[in-house]
Amino acid sequence: MSPRTFLRSRRTAGAMAMVSVGALSAAAVVFGGATANAAPGCKVDYTITSQWQGGFGASVTVTNLGDAISGGWTLDWDFAAGQTVQQGWNGRFSQSGTKVTVQNPEWAATLGSGATATPGFNGSWNGSNPKPTQFRLNGTVCTGTVTTTTTTTTTTTTTTTTTTSGNPNPGTRADNPYVGAGVYVNPQWSRQAAAEPGGSRVANQPTGVWMDRISAIDGNGSPTTGSMGLADHLNEAERQRAASPTGELVFQVVIYNLPGRDCAALASNGELKPDELPRYKAEYIDKIAGILARPEYARLRIVAVIEIDSLPNLVTNVTPRATATPNCDVMKQNQNYQNGVAYAVSKLGDIPNVYNYLDSGHHGWIGWGDTVPEYDNFFASAKMMASILGREGVTKSDVHGFITNTANYSALEEPFWTVDDVVGGQQVKQASKWVDWNDFNGELGFATAFRAELVKQGFDSGIGMLIDTSRNGWGGANRPTAKSTSTDAAKYVDESRIDRRFQKGNWCNQSGAGLGERPKAAPKPNIDAYVWIKPPGESDGSSTAIPNDEGKGFDRMCDPTYTGNPRNGYNLSGALPNAPLSGHWFSAQFQELMRNAYPPLS
Ligand code: BGC
Repeated sequence: MSPRTFLRSRRTAGAMAMVSVGALSAAAVVFGGATANAAPGCKVDYTITSQWQGGFGASVTVTNLGDAISGGWTLDWDFAAGQTVQQGWNGRFSQSGTKVTVQNPEWAATLGSGATATPGFNGSWNGSNPKPTQFRLNGTVCTGTVTTTTTTTTTTTTTTTTTTSGNPNPGTRADNPYVGAGVYVNPQWSRQAAAEPGGSRVANQPTGVWMDRISAIDGNGSPTTGSMGLADHLNEAERQRAASPTGELVFQVVIYNLPGRDCAALASNGELKPDELPRYKAEYIDKIAGILARPEYARLRIVAVIEIDSLPNLVTNVTPRATATPNCDVMKQNQNYQNGVAYAVSKLGDIPNVYNYLDSGHHGWIGWGDTVPEYDNFFASAKMMASILGREGVTKSDVHGFITNTANYSALEEPFWTVDDVVGGQQVKQASKWVDWNDFNGELGFATAFRAELVKQGFDSGIGMLIDTSRNGWGGANRPTAKSTSTDAAKYVDESRIDRRFQKGNWCNQSGAGLGERPKAAPKPNIDAYVWIKPPGESDGSSTAIPNDEGKGFDRMCDPTYTGNPRNGYNLSGALPNAPLSGHWFSAQFQELMRNAYPPLS
């Protein structure tokens, strides 16, 4: 596993031809010529998420109870006690006197009937901080109901109807499989976690079950899968489902065995050679599909996370990029990543209770959008994903969604700054090496924008996103508690950021990282769940070469003394020392992840 970045070379602002896909702007925005439809009803849930002397953070969930809105929406309210918005996200904020106006993010101009949007902000207060008493969506006061008068032709009486959202994904699958369902707790992982001092605080969390080799399907006694094969896990999952309060259970399986796997790194090189697509299909995917399709598992909601890092590698780590590797060039040329992914998606998509989520990297890798091909990872990756549609019989309905940040360390969001901040007269986007023109500084913004682009590229408008939050918490003693006061833009970012890596391309056993948000269903609009796909405590790769029969190589990105390569901008690797092979239990890392958990463990 090697989620990795691509660094664009620096360019001057003058030469810049950026396509902004970022959503955040705290700057005042002048609105005019709004094209939004009238909204006859809405409700708002305004939550103060944290408050401190003089400051606070809040989220504002607005639900459109009326007709679908296309062409943009505007939410406004008044702050009676003179509070001021300092910085906003998931919407474009402006304030005039007491009136705050939030316009839809550029990438999300529609708000369907029953759909929600959740802008958030940090603000300041003085004296008191009462909640606003009235909100308006496109000028309509949000009363929490909508009354539509319709006259029916048969009875000519007047009826009152309330508009609710329909399932955007008709068929047998749930729109969001995580809603109303428990998630499988892997007893193998759970035992490892519980055996660690303090581990019982997280040992009951659900984690992904990785089919990382053909032998994992039957159970190969490896430290990752233990003696349990796929059917053993499914039997246990069915037992957990039957015992669960709702009778619904998500089982998360990771499909990770492509020919020529992990082409830009060595730590998770697989068992199949670049041209072994026939074996991948017959001995791996067909076998897994045969087990998942058994009638005794039909009541489970099976989430299949498909082939981490594969398609993004074909965009960023190929010729003519400086980040190219010979192995990724081979995989691009022979198309066995696209063919393998398409085969998996098509085959598993035929099983009515399987929900396919394709891996799409993370913001520190794919978050650069540009009209110039050599600087663009974002749009090109969405197109690469869409290139599997039609291949091996893949249809839109085979793809339930996408996952970001699998086994990576990128934060969900940076609480104290945005890439659009201007400090000391300089745009941080340009002046900060950490940002280096990236359009995002967190997974929430990236996942949301990438989803919108994927829909544009042909995927179903009902797709949902998952975010792996297993190791992106960045708490502990070194977590900044406020925005830096530096007037040097680069320093400002480095002192304000919670993600403490040397560089976002660092992916192996990161020092300073902590457990992130606990797994959670529907945490934000269009995010189906926060999930722990990478089981915390399982290594990303060994820090020195270790002979093995798992096909695992030694990647110097896992060696703490390594000073890097083009894919991490020649920075120190930031890896913890003394790590075992990828997938093997790494107690010291598990302890560090617990210590630096955010939210902290109680
Ligand atoms: C390893 C796999 C392992 C997975 C989960 C990957 O990096 O290559 O062997 O199953 O991580 O820990």
